[in-house]
Amino acid sequence: QEEGEGGEEYLFKIVVIGDSAVGKSNLLSRFARNEFDSNSKATIGVEFQTQVVDIEGKEIKAQIWDTAGQERFRAVTSAYYRGAVGALIVYDITRRTSFDSVKRWLDELGTHCDTAIARMLVGNKCDLDSIREVSRDEGKSLAEEESLFFMETSALDSTNVEAAFEVVIREIYNNMS
Ligand code: GDP
Ligand code: MG
Repeated sequence: QEEGEGGEEYLFKIVVIGDSAVGKSNLLSRFARNEFDSNSKATIGVEFQTQVVDIEGKEIKAQIWDTAGQERFRAVTSAYYRGAVGALIVYDITRRTSFDSVKRWLDELGTHCDTAIARMLVGNKCDLDSIREVSRDEGKSLAEEESLFFMETSALDSTNVEAAFEVVIREIYNNMS
């Protein structure tokens, strides 16, 4: 948090984590640019995107980090997590294994970040309800167990994408004061 000339300026670093292909990059591109990429091999080294959000009349810069595919090799570096004040832990509702991995991602987050970090569990691809492998209740229960916010999203049809990021940003903002 820095002091700007016209008042305060807020910069929040938020990381997006979860197994490969759960839709992390598309959630970010949907939020930051309102774009979706249906054949995204496109995790082309964009480190982060910055999106300005208005919370209670304050201009907040959300700097949202994408793993750029490192998660495939279990090599998400500590630099990735450094300074993060929020996290979205993403799984794919049509792929049970990605849900089973959530605990591992939470452990990793815990080793790198303060416990006070604002955390949202995200069940992505909710547009694919007909081939779902993880029920909404399972997601919700895990979130309650682990004290996480929870939402199901679709980067494809935009369901809850803005809402998920905004809940995290608002929580970070509220925790500051
Ligand atoms: P990442 O590896 O976690 O960054 O995942 P990507 O964003 O690259 O997405 C992996 C694949 O899932 C791509 O083919 C996307 O088009 C697809 N995808 C991502 N989000 C959604 C979604 O909400 N719904 C559907 N149906 N497909 C999605
Ligand atoms: Mg990606």
